Amino acid sequence: MMEIIIDDPRLRPIREKVEAGERLSYEDGLALYRTSDLLALGYLANLVRERKNGNVTWFNVNRHINPTDVCVASCKLCAFGKRAKDPKAYTWSLEEVWHRAGEGWSEAITEFHIVGGLHPELTLDWYCEMLGGLKQRFPNVHLKAFTMVEVAYLAQRSKISIRETLEKLMAAGTDSLPGGGAEIFNDRVRRILCDHKITGSQWLEVARTAHELGLKSNCTMLYGHIETEEDRVDHLIKLRELQRDTGGFQTFIPLAFHPANTDLGHISSTTGFQDLKMIAVSRLLLDNIDHIKAYWIMMTPRIAQIAQRFGADDLDGTVVEEKIYHDAGATTSQGLRRNELLRLIREAGREPMERDTLYRPVRRTEAAFTVLV
Ligand code: SF4
Repeated sequence: MMEIIIDDPRLRPIREKVEAGERLSYEDGLALYRTSDLLALGYLANLVRERKNGNVTWFNVNRHINPTDVCVASCKLCAFGKRAKDPKAYTWSLEEVWHRAGEGWSEAITEFHIVGGLHPELTLDWYCEMLGGLKQRFPNVHLKAFTMVEVAYLAQRSKISIRETLEKLMAAGTDSLPGGGAEIFNDRVRRILCDHKITGSQWLEVARTAHELGLKSNCTMLYGHIETEEDRVDHLIKLRELQRDTGGFQTFIPLAFHPANTDLGHISSTTGFQDLKMIAVSRLLLDNIDHIKAYWIMMTPRIAQIAQRFGADDLDGTVVEEKIYHDAGATTSQGLRRNELLRLIREAGREPMERDTLYRPVRRTEAAFTVLV
């Protein structure tokens, strides 16, 4: 086996822990963020990645649906949410949601990823009707719908508990939850970035309740704005602790901040170096979450491809239409064809494995797909 050269002496004890399969501490996390020895980080993260997922890189064939960008919150980090009176704001009717869901249908989409703004008038019943209509029209498609922030907002508007709200959404068709809205849990940063959103503790409580009800979810962290290294480590460890209790997180997705068209436009975009470091550190700290996703929409397909050797084992999906990060200046395409995803994976020496939302392999023939359970 090739001997890896570790330049940064702070990483040597961490290497021993990683090789022994031991949990890394808060201080280890800080040392990982503070090192510039990216190749050593990548080597260590790759050890864990291959231990958990072998040579496989997962992807899925999905479509994003963002029914409205009208939002009562005014998060400084956001270029997507708009006031109801903004002439550029949009809200689709139920028929439009159902119609758009069917666009690009030829690729036999296995997942709809549904998130949007916090609309002041759309009711929980409206969302339930939307989900029911999607299930009726596309019974085989998994509905990954609504962030913890949206769930909490719907509960507040409906004057019912988080648990009841989730139960209603599940009865209407929600199969799992995405991981957005976590941003950074630290209260100081959250007050500056997204004052009107639920707190970090509330986000974790919604996730806990969802997991207790049997829903799987993803989890995220928004990085590359005003957060410190301590904030990042704290965020990851809070996710790790909740995962210890519930086991409900499937995938962690580090989200690079896109400053264009936000109130924080003076902040520089993240670099490829930072993006790869974020993937590697999260793989090393989140030892109880199976998957780390390199979300190509935010990282670019080029960095996401390399990330497969720095800890990532998932490239997300074909997406088809994406609004949230493109409003914030993302220059990536709106969707990747299945063949392009396969090429990104194979060129990196990995074995592509199409999955459904719950990481069950999907076997595809010319005209149909089968989820292998
Ligand atoms: S980040 Fe979400 S909650 Fe905040 S303004 Fe944007 S859409 Fe609204």
